[in-house]
Amino acid sequence: MGGVESHMNAHLQLAMHAPQSDDTQLRALVRHQLLSGALGESVEDHAFGGISRGAHCAVCNLAIEAGKSEIQTFGRDGSHRRFHPKCHLLLSCELEDLAQR
Ligand SMILES: [Zn+2]
Repeated sequence: MGGVESHMNAHLQLAMHAPQSDDTQLRALVRHQLLSGALGESVEDHAFGGISRGAHCAVCNLAIEAGKSEIQTFGRDGSHRRFHPKCHLLLSCELEDLAQR
């Protein structure tokens, strides 16, 4: 039970498994992208996992290595973005943070 809470704990635990410094930088980048509007107002309507064909990540702007998994999102404004799974995870964390204010 406690759907929302356990969902957030899962994010927290995943974030804590990643190297700290790296993560802090990436989270700052995610926040910057969000606040600057680069990722749109409401980022996604649908999100699903796929296999990369070498597109660039909407958060960190680095190529997602072809053959690796990626997250694709389709926004309400019709936008289509691709993310590293880790970048998308951090994005979800930041969105939850911002939504709580
Ligand atoms: Zn990325």
